[in-house]
Amino acid sequence: MSLKERLIKQIRMDGPIPVSAYMQTCLHDPKDGYYANGAGLGTDFITAPETSQMFGELIGLWLANEWKALGSPSTFNIVEMGPGRGTLMADAMRAAHAATDSNFANGLFLELIEASPALRKIQDAKLEKYVPDFKDKLEHVNTHVTLIIANEFLDCLPARQFVREGETWRERIVGLDETGALAFGVDRSDMRAEAAANLPALDLSAEAELQPGLDGLVATLLSRHEKGDRFHALFIDYGPDKGAPGDTLRAYKDGKQVHPLACPGEADLTVDVDFARLAKLATRAGLSVSGPITQSAFLGALGLQARLNALIKARPEKAEALFEGAQKLVGPDQMGARFKVIGISSPDLPRPLGF
Ligand code: SAH
Repeated sequence: MSLKERLIKQIRMDGPIPVSAYMQTCLHDPKDGYYANGAGLGTDFITAPETSQMFGELIGLWLANEWKALGSPSTFNIVEMGPGRGTLMADAMRAAHAATDSNFANGLFLELIEASPALRKIQDAKLEKYVPDFKDKLEHVNTHVTLIIANEFLDCLPARQFVREGETWRERIVGLDETGALAFGVDRSDMRAEAAANLPALDLSAEAELQPGLDGLVATLLSRHEKGDRFHALFIDYGPDKGAPGDTLRAYKDGKQVHPLACPGEADLTVDVDFARLAKLATRAGLSVSGPITQSAFLGALGLQARLNALIKARPEKAEALFEGAQKLVGPDQMGARFKVIGISSPDLPRPLGF
């Protein structure tokens, strides 16, 4: 039975499910979830590290810089959340090791937070020489000094969706239409107060999206700080820097956008990240927030131009491809403006590089 058939059967028996539960199943169902199989990465959508090696290399320089700024600690974690095919970390490790002495290599614990068994295998093979350790959750990584990075991870945290009806918000759900096919609907029962309290004021918009995972992430970071971890975390993703996203749920299959209910588990499902809310949650928790700023501003501040010049000098025959790669990362009509970078750090640390 396909995931779609299983979902239809489940909804017929138990009733409609929130959009967030639909997203969770489509992405992470152990048998048929999109990431559980890991097949589509690189064909359904292309991420920055898969576009140009410079992306991971500049992140590597950032890691090296922050390790030094923290006093070159003799043991420390580098954590990547959602490493995909491991490309970002492979490029970052190469650049970070080249920019540091043997204390960096000797003190490093590389921790990868990855849900997908198929992707873990690929990451393990690519990063073998750094002896990565796999964890299900950030909570499971020992407290130490910690540098965390995550590219296109937050956008796959399941989102609840709400629609305005007169003076109230109602939750959007996935149910069945009269033909028995999956269809969006609206939950008529009274909304739980704690969800309603998080929604924007009623006059702002007719639709709202909320990723409860952002609250969980900030709570985890706060508890790391409370246990004595000194950390910088860097999150890179798409979404507005101001104002909340409305309905942004989208599905991608074979590089094309498809309807989010069309092929559960076979398409990537994603939403825009509400950076303003993430910044507010982290600030309220007493953590330090840097940005959000555009990917273009961030990579520019890390020295993209100089890195590009150096690569072109070393491989003049590759000049055109290298230049194009850089353009994709920072071009205002490409990834440069739509993608944002936010830093969240434990309090009382110097602001991280790039902001
Ligand atoms: N960072 C990579 C891949 C982005 S795709 C890149 O830039 O190319 C999203 C990644 O996050 C995948 O590796 C996916 O399996 C992982 N992922 C998504 N949700 C997760 C979760 N809840 N826990 C752990 N990993 C998750």
